[in-house]
Amino acid sequence: ATQDAGSATQGVEEHVARNYNPLPVNIARAEGAWVTDVEGKRYLDLLAAYSAVNFGHRHPALVAALTEQLGRVTLTSRAFMSDRLEPFAAALATLCGKDLVLPMNTGAEAVETGIKVARAWGYRVKGIAEDRARIIVAAGNFHGRTTTIVSFSDDEQARDDFGPYTPGFDVVPYGDADAVAAAITDDTAAVLLEPIQGEGGVIIPPDGYLRRIREICDEKNVLFIADEIQSGLGRVGETFACDREGVVPDLYLLGKALGGGLLPVSAVVGDSDVLGVIRPGEHGSTFGGNPLAAAVGLRVVEMLESGEVQERARALGAHLATSLESLIGHGVTAVRIAGLWAGVDIDPALGTGREIAEKLLERGVLVKDTHGQTIRIAPPIVVRATELDWAVEQLRLVLER
Ligand code: PLP
Repeated sequence: ATQDAGSATQGVEEHVARNYNPLPVNIARAEGAWVTDVEGKRYLDLLAAYSAVNFGHRHPALVAALTEQLGRVTLTSRAFMSDRLEPFAAALATLCGKDLVLPMNTGAEAVETGIKVARAWGYRVKGIAEDRARIIVAAGNFHGRTTTIVSFSDDEQARDDFGPYTPGFDVVPYGDADAVAAAITDDTAAVLLEPIQGEGGVIIPPDGYLRRIREICDEKNVLFIADEIQSGLGRVGETFACDREGVVPDLYLLGKALGGGLLPVSAVVGDSDVLGVIRPGEHGSTFGGNPLAAAVGLRVVEMLESGEVQERARALGAHLATSLESLIGHGVTAVRIAGLWAGVDIDPALGTGREIAEKLLERGVLVKDTHGQTIRIAPPIVVRATELDWAVEQLRLVLER
């Protein structure tokens, strides 16, 4: 079906490579939780650009930070210092309870950076023999699209025909801490996990899993790297999904919402005994930590400091949970929800996730399907409870037919 669905974008994206299969909506404007297409039709955005738009489209405080910085300096490269980078890094490090920030741009770059840091730490601190370092990852993971990252994906679409693959990764079942413990050897440098698997369909691991991973990593002298690129920065009703279990990883990988939906901003955050292993000249990015990114990133961190965004995600999530759970048995087979982030499994008798997404689109609601039967709901956290009620009502009507 993916191959045949070209008509949706015909004439609109003729010169765009077909690496996506977008829903047939051509967005021209957006504000808060709503987007408007080229014909003026409005849609409630329940994807929020995969949680990059947690604070809503064009949040005035973020637009102001970007605009103000556009009038000062936009790019220096890291060959020189800019007066924006240290304030951003200091605020983000404090938010994470860590010492150091390594700024990058995209999520995949943050993951690649985390992998390099873990390997360098493995050789220089732990004493793993040259080129033997291994990293444990989970089945069903999604960490991005680079050649190294797809090397440890078990999603055929992400991986097939992109080899040869980068070695050095061990895949264990997600949610099973004993499997992680059993896979650790003297060559293991790190365990890399999403605290909640986003692209996997909002898969929430069993209670205590992250705490147990933390204990195992401490016992075995292995780094715990939490990929909070989608789960972090307010989405789950806490600053980080790891906070749900009171767990602090050695490295946080952050992205998406860190750029406030305005521009790509990612970062690796850790203490100097780990992140400090990287020396000048070993890693970098022309745009990483640029003044525009740092100005917006600082404002994003400031918006998270009071805890109001997190509290709002928690309250709205509790509200959404009640209404979504009422659909179980009425076209919905399961609901998984953490804060304002839900995976909703659709009864296959009623159609695929994609088909449901297309019907919701007609009713003015934007969602994205994942893994066949699941639709994911992750609205901007500025959404109103009444808007969520309306959206769930549209889903109920679509499933009734
Ligand atoms: N890690 C996680 C958990 C993600 O969800 C994503 C994107 O969906 C990435 C990494 C990759 O981020 P990017 O698309 O910015 O490279």
